[in-house]
Amino acid sequence: MNLKILITGGAGFIGSHLTESYLKKGHFVYIIDDLSTGSLDNIKPLTEHPEYKDRLSVTVDTILNTDTMLELVGTCDRVIHLAAAVGVRHILDNPLMSLTTNLRGTGIVLELCNKFRKKVMMASSSEVYGKHDHAPLTESDDTVFGSVHNWRWSYGATKLVDEFTALAYYKENQLPVVIVRLFNTVGPRQTGEYGMVVPRLVHQALRNDVITVYGDGTQTRTFTHVRDVVECIERLLEVPEAVGQVFNIGGREEISIRALAERIVKLTGSHSEIKLLPYEDVYPTDFEDMKRRVPSTEKLRKVIGMAPETDLDTILAEVISYCRSEM
Ligand code: UDP
Repeated sequence: MNLKILITGGAGFIGSHLTESYLKKGHFVYIIDDLSTGSLDNIKPLTEHPEYKDRLSVTVDTILNTDTMLELVGTCDRVIHLAAAVGVRHILDNPLMSLTTNLRGTGIVLELCNKFRKKVMMASSSEVYGKHDHAPLTESDDTVFGSVHNWRWSYGATKLVDEFTALAYYKENQLPVVIVRLFNTVGPRQTGEYGMVVPRLVHQALRNDVITVYGDGTQTRTFTHVRDVVECIERLLEVPEAVGQVFNIGGREEISIRALAERIVKLTGSHSEIKLLPYEDVYPTDFEDMKRRVPSTEKLRKVIGMAPETDLDTILAEVISYCRSEM
């Protein structure tokens, strides 16, 4: 059956990959994107593709525009809500806009999905866990945020409220909602402009510029290939067991940012020097980083029979080759 899928934030990094995958499978995709961090370049190969262009509709507008959203949600069979203010740097630079998009925007999406009884998947973030040193993080773990003076936590706080709102629609109105907490998704088309570490460091390495590792570089992350994320999202959206549930989607290889920088230097054959930069030099005062962020994907595996598997070297090789082609 060919479905009509509404993807909010469809011109963004993850959204554009998801759009491509649904079009490849023969579905119709409706995108709404305000191009704040997304770009029409991400979807140009799709809007111009002879087999896809008649099944793809692109609306450049904000999800805060209720009239536009009413039309789109009313038209589509499923909604995948990715539109959000993203990127640590971007959120610190645009505090009010980030809160409005993530809270009011999600409120509008959910309200309309409820009105038209449309199944909705909402993208949340590993940021909702806040400050933890243990690994892996499971979906039922506590959320541990820092002080209100530290603006970083505003993002996790908005995503947490979004999760509660979606779950409230499920509990009170039986609206079919699925929530995914994404852990550092990377891959071709991601830009380093809003702070994301992998594209930033790869660009620095390819230009033989200084590689900027913040803090002492011992903080760790796991990175997930966007292709794996797309597959998990598509499967979760179709299984009844996922409704009303929260799932981690993340990679399995924990690596310190210092080691990541070294790996990137080696894989690119770069002459870059790796420099440790104190957080005070790059972020506003009171900035707090997350020391560790490793997902448990047991719940995901149980429900869809798979979890992201692409190893870090493969992911980095693809990102490097993409960045090279863009230079
Ligand atoms: N980071 C870094 N150098 C950069 C950009 C980021 O060392 O040029 C660090 C950042 O402080 C964090 C990690 O890389 O510890 C991941 O940062 P990103 O903004 O990609 O995502 P986060 O996991 O913090 O949301």
